[in-house]
Formats: sequence, structure tokens, C-alpha cells
Amino acid sequence: MEKVVIIGSGCAGLTAALYTARANLSPLVLTGTQPGGLLTTTSIVENFPGFPEGIDGYELMVRMQKQAERFGARVEFKILEAVDFSRTPFVLTVDGEKVETETLIIASGAGHRHLGLESERLLEKHGVTYCATCDGALPGFRNQPLVVVGGGDSACEEALYLTRFASEVLLIHRRDELRASKIMRERVLAHAKIKPIWDSVVTEIRDVTQGKVTGVRLKNLKSGGESDLACAGVFVAIGHVPTTQLFQGIIDMDENGYIVPKDRMQTNVPGVFVAGDCADHVYRQAITAAGMGCSAGIEVERYLAARMV
Ligand code: NAP
Repeated sequence: MEKVVIIGSGCAGLTAALYTARANLSPLVLTGTQPGGLLTTTSIVENFPGFPEGIDGYELMVRMQKQAERFGARVEFKILEAVDFSRTPFVLTVDGEKVETETLIIASGAGHRHLGLESERLLEKHGVTYCATCDGALPGFRNQPLVVVGGGDSACEEALYLTRFASEVLLIHRRDELRASKIMRERVLAHAKIKPIWDSVVTEIRDVTQGKVTGVRLKNLKSGGESDLACAGVFVAIGHVPTTQLFQGIIDMDENGYIVPKDRMQTNVPGVFVAGDCADHVYRQAITAAGMGCSAGIEVERYLAARMV
């Protein structure tokens, strides 16, 4: 029987693994389909403290895994299929096998919502990105027109951030009113470098044949008219989807599927803890996820110690 199983191997999961491993709990980490989590899909991470020159996202995650393994964490490329929290120890179904565990940390993260275009998929990392903080300062985006898609706080935040680098930020929204909070709306609409393009959707990102972003094809949803827009990058910011489907109806979540901890990283099920982006729609940074993973790891240690008394 396991003392602690951690679902997810992003910053939250691997930091929880580091802390529980150092507490001699020999954590089992199930990576899921994307070992290393969302950060492995980005290029240079410049805002993780301790790396003044920046660090490649993939390399950062490899290092985190090594650090956790050094103290006894076991990281396995396996997928959680089902959970049974109706009795303790909990019973997990992992790649068809039953695994019993005293505690569980859900660090399953969140994925970027995609537009769903084939050209978007083919040009990801070649000018299509989902994170201005991660990629906005890349040389290819400097002094170029950049497109941001979305009308929420994320899109506004991305657009404002990109004004530091872009010659112009074109904010493409499918309605004629931003969903974002008042303060963000006002900032965006007052910014000289941001040009909103209303009632419009991106129907294609160009140019797949060149292997880089050169522009977008737009459709105006009111007039039906189509047009082309030149740009060097497309930042898709149309929301996130927390990876929590497996826990629906069992673990308390908000209306968007983000897990809501009850008390100090513990969920409504005693012994089940949560950390990282699957419980955070506000900050969503590598360092905040790592911090939550640390907290969850410490809480697991305390929970198990209290049960042994
Ligand atoms: P969001 O509020 O759900 O906004 C998503 C935006 O993308 C909406 O404007 C939506 O259009 C648009 N959209 C969704 N699917 C689309 C599609 N398939 N094609 C084109 N457009 C699409 O998501 P978010 O901006 O990531 O924010 C999530 C939560 O985090 C919110 O509660 C937000 O307040 C919070 N947040 C806060 C801050 C901050 O306070 N600084 C920063 C970021 C996020 P419609 O408007 O037409 O639905």
C-alpha cells in the first residue's frame, strides 16, 4: 500500500513529491499523458526564481523530477483511470491495475483551451502560443504586430503584457464587449498600442507552408465578411480547462471545474489534497504551483503523522 500518490508531474506535483519524499513517504507520482506538465510545452521560463538567465521549461521539469527522485520519489508514466474514495485506504485504478493509498494529492493541472484549428496545431511553438509571460519577449515577436484572441481577463492581461514588445497588439474578440473585469477593460481600451477587433473569430492561422506565423484569416460574425491580417504571433487566451473530470461529483469544485480546497490544501474528502493549476484560476504560474505543491506535501505529512498517534 502507498502512503501518498500524486496525480500529475508538473511544478505542483513534483514539488509535492520532493517534500513528501524528504519526509520518507516514498511518494508515487503518476505523470498522466504529459510528463512535466504544461511548462514542458513552452520555451524559455524567465520568471522562475533562481535562474537569472532563464531556463528551458522542459529542462526545469527534468531537474525537478531528478531532485524529487534523489530523495526516493517514484515517477511513473501511468494514467489514473478511476478513484474510489468510499473507503480507506483509497483505491485507484491505474492503467487497469488497483493501487491502494492512504492519501492522494491531485496536481493534475489545467490545459489551455484551444481554438480547434488545424493551422493552430501545426504552428504551435512556431508563432502560436498560449502564454505571453512565457513567450512574449522572444526575438521573433519584438517590434512586430501580434494577435491576441479572447475577451476575458487572461486575454487583456496578455495584450497589456505584449505591448512591451509588440509594435501593435490586435485583440480579436468574438463579441463587441469584453468579458474582462472593468479595470482590465478600461486599461486595454485606453492603451494606444492595443487595437480591438470586435465580433470576429480567427478561421485560419497562416502560413503553415512556411512553418511560421505570418498572419490570420478573420471572419466577422455580424457581417460574415472575411479579411486577412498580418502578424508575427498569435496568443490564444480563451480560457483554461482544469484537468479534473475524473473527480467530478466527488471532490468539491467551482462552476468551471477548478477544485476548491476546504482547508489548507485539503479537499472535502479527508486524505485527498490538491495543488497547482487544477485549483488555481487566478495566478497560474510555475512558482505558485510549486508553492501549492510544497503546502500540500507538508499537509500530507502532518495528516499521516496525526493518524499514527
Ligand atoms: P474567461 O473569463 O472564461 O474568458 C475567455 C474568453 O475567451 C471569453 O471572452 C470568451 O468569449 C472567449 N472564448 C472562449 N472560447 C472561445 C472560442 N472558442 N473562440 C473565441 N473566443 C473564445 O477566461 P480567462 O480570461 O482565462 O479567465 C478565467 C478566470 O480567471 C476569470 O474568472 C478571470 O477573471 C480570472 N483571471 C483574472 C485575472 C486578473 O484578475 N488579472 C487574469 C486572468 C484571469 P465570450 O466572452 O464571448 O464568452
